[in-house]
Amino acid sequence: MPLYEYYCEPCNGIFEELRPIREASLPVPCPVCFKDSQRIMPTSFSAFVFRDGYPRRIPDDGKYYHLGKKVNNLVKRGRPNEHPEVNKPKPPPALTKGEKSSIRDMQQAARKGELSDAYGNAVKPEDVRENYKQKKVMKKATPKRGLK
Ligand SMILES: [Zn+2]
Repeated sequence: MPLYEYYCEPCNGIFEELRPIREASLPVPCPVCFKDSQRIMPTSFSAFVFRDGYPRRIPDDGKYYHLGKKVNNLVKRGRPNEHPEVNKPKPPPALTKGEKSSIRDMQQAARKGELSDAYGNAVKPEDVRENYKQKKVMKKATPKRGLK
């Protein structure tokens, strides 16, 4: 479904909606006040005030709506129903104190050659953190096989 821009008069806001082409020119309820909003020409066509009969409007505060959330910029690239300000990638969870200290313990054991994986292979100290994040089995045991 293509993404269209709509303008809400009471909110003075532009928002985008994914709509089937045949419904594109029908009014869409504003995500904020639920009043019917008219389709406008994409705000990226800045050279035209009117185009194909659709007035071009920009809210006073320069904000837009993306699927109901106010954002500073319209989507420029990527998938149209995703917006960098709305769909922020989640940062990886931070390690807790306990996790950090068990990683330190395992690194220490690895340096002494006393850490092995599920198959009895020695674990390198520099691999401990990554293995831990991937939840790979590591145990304090004299490896059956040494480092390659
Ligand atoms: Zn509105």
